[in-house]
Amino acid sequence: MGRCYVVVFLVALYCVFGLLEASSGDADPVYRACVEQCKKTGCVGDKCFQHCNFSSDGNPIDGPWYLQEPLYVQWKQWDCQSDCSYHCMLSREEERQKLGHKPAKYHGKWPFKRIYGIQEPVSVALSALNLAVQFHGWVSFFILVNYKLPFRPNKKTYYEFSGLWHIYSIFAMNAWFWNAVYHSRDVDLIEKLDYSSAVALLGYSLFLAIVRVFNMRLEAARVMVAAPISAFVTTHILYLNFYQFDYGLNTKVCVAMGALQIILWATWALITRHPSRVKVWVVVLGGALAMLLEIYDFPPYWGLIDSHAIWHAITIPLTYLWWSFVRDDSEFRTSILIKKTK
Ligand SMILES: [Zn+2]
Repeated sequence: MGRCYVVVFLVALYCVFGLLEASSGDADPVYRACVEQCKKTGCVGDKCFQHCNFSSDGNPIDGPWYLQEPLYVQWKQWDCQSDCSYHCMLSREEERQKLGHKPAKYHGKWPFKRIYGIQEPVSVALSALNLAVQFHGWVSFFILVNYKLPFRPNKKTYYEFSGLWHIYSIFAMNAWFWNAVYHSRDVDLIEKLDYSSAVALLGYSLFLAIVRVFNMRLEAARVMVAAPISAFVTTHILYLNFYQFDYGLNTKVCVAMGALQIILWATWALITRHPSRVKVWVVVLGGALAMLLEIYDFPPYWGLIDSHAIWHAITIPLTYLWWSFVRDDSEFRTSILIKKTK
């Protein structure tokens, strides 16, 4: 079963590299011209946006910082850009639909309908739920290792991976936080923060997967794993933020790092005699299913629910189960280590 799933997964992985080359709406010159025009005039067609009146006192928008307007005005600038992109996207999609074209993606996202100014309300709500489940999982783990399980004579936990899981929770909560913000507003800076946080989380969880699967307890061995991964992830994040924001490349990097850790955990779960290996199987299968949803990405139903939103819904129970595995793992390792010392 596990081997079959790995094959399915590899086939899907192969497909993703072909499918992701699909054209994106934000590269469309008509759309680009519309956004540029709108940022100057504050209007798309006969719709005008109040956020775009940011240089009312005549200060230049792109002059040196001491001549620029205060931060809240810059926020308005961001809002202006967001309103412009949104309405240019709607008008462009309307035109494209008339010409019989399928919906295109803009800045890596499908054309969604906004509700109360929130761009993807379903994904925002689900990201917030993911964040909450992540927080709950971490708190319950923290309480378990620090208050319920016995300590070593040197006042440290028996479980050798406690610290690594605490750091993992910070990466995960940070990523879900920026994901929720990103789904609510289409702003360049937030988009970069979201993508960077996701890459950082994937990189860290890959490191954690290697360290836990191979049961690395020596600091030196862990550093040997951490160094190349953090160098790679840092380079990739710098490249995205300061050189070129390449969605296709980023997806390949994320899928590769995600696939690698899924394969690691899957193989481990097949070999190990760990009492909670079933939980790992479920999370691995669910994680692969979630990745397939990202690969066979479909446009939103009713302008609201797309494959990404469904993926966020799947990750909620998976996150719960994952932390449950982490708690089991800490209890299991602790009991083994106590038996050894007796
Ligand atoms: Zn998301």
